[in-house]
Amino acid sequence: MTEVGLFIVLFVALFIGWAMGRKNPAKKPKREKKNVPPDYFRGLNHLLNDQQSEAIDAFVESLEINSDTFDIHLTLGSLFRKKGEIQKAINVHQSLLARPEISSREMRMVQLELASDFMSAGLLDRASRLLLNMATASRKSEFHPKILTLLVDLYEFEQSWDNAIQIGTELVKDSPNKKEIKRLAHFHCEMAQTLFKKDQPKEAYQHYKQALGVDPSCVRASIGAADVLSSQRRYRDAIKELKQVAEQDAEYISVVIPKLKDCYQRVWGSSGFVKFLQEQNQKKPSAALILALAEHYMVDDKEYAEMFMVEQLRSHPTVKGFKALINLQMDLSRGQNQQHLEVLYELIDQLANSKPQYQCRQCGFSGYQLHWQCPSCKNWGTVKPIHGLEGE
Ligand SMILES: [Zn+2]
Repeated sequence: MTEVGLFIVLFVALFIGWAMGRKNPAKKPKREKKNVPPDYFRGLNHLLNDQQSEAIDAFVESLEINSDTFDIHLTLGSLFRKKGEIQKAINVHQSLLARPEISSREMRMVQLELASDFMSAGLLDRASRLLLNMATASRKSEFHPKILTLLVDLYEFEQSWDNAIQIGTELVKDSPNKKEIKRLAHFHCEMAQTLFKKDQPKEAYQHYKQALGVDPSCVRASIGAADVLSSQRRYRDAIKELKQVAEQDAEYISVVIPKLKDCYQRVWGSSGFVKFLQEQNQKKPSAALILALAEHYMVDDKEYAEMFMVEQLRSHPTVKGFKALINLQMDLSRGQNQQHLEVLYELIDQLANSKPQYQCRQCGFSGYQLHWQCPSCKNWGTVKPIHGLEGE
């Protein structure tokens, strides 16, 4: 919600609270004058002077905590947190918890907000203690998935992958959703990557397989498993894993081509590799497939390779493709023509190198490296190779 939206909600809530107080004749004598709290006017004054933080403070003070204003306090606390004023958020939430009339449902709602406050403040121990107590106490409650989600967020932030896997598995079992399933598979991949670096390939492979058990479409797990198998010289099995990526998500094909080429060359030579490239290029053409095929054709017949490139570029134009075509032309020409092509090649090379290769499909973050977790929006598996004229 925008701040303007929040202020509108706040005003409506204030009005309702005030109106409810007015229309309750049983509790108050009819003729008693309902005074608007002075803090309310102070808040309005700050708002008019564009002092938003002071305005919110004054509104908080003007609202007496009762069942009618509980939600407003909860929203204000969360607004403070989002604005980075964590101590104020903690104060609002702790003052709500101190109310004797608070119901157990309301108490859990506040505790969840407080756990988020602690996490935002970097007080991870306090957050995890609170959440673990809540998780044990409210195993069957409606809040259980939210508690587990926050715990997984916390362990992810701490990069405590074994804990993240344990709670993530419970969460997915409790309330399966696509985002959590994807995230859990990546936790297994993180664990596998760490184990592989520690020279424990067997355990690493098991985690990659567990990742695929959780999320069969996890491209990273197939690529990781293939790396482990290649390190054990099990190239045929590695090829099976890598070919799987084309079924899981063909957008990642450019990532697996060099690995696949290497594995094929070690066992069967290039014929199976070329067949795979041709099949994939028919299904979904990409610069990586076209360039790999052209590279193969060039070995025997440069003119055929050139013809193939021109034909492919007509239907699938890319900067990478043009660069490769100019490179090929340079090989085939002599004298002044070659010099002109060299200038053109340098220009297109600079252009190609200045363009990011990967982009997050969720937030648009782009970069030169493939991150399995987007550095900007923190989503898992959303950064993919860029397609189109400047990409694949
Ligand atoms: Zn992103």
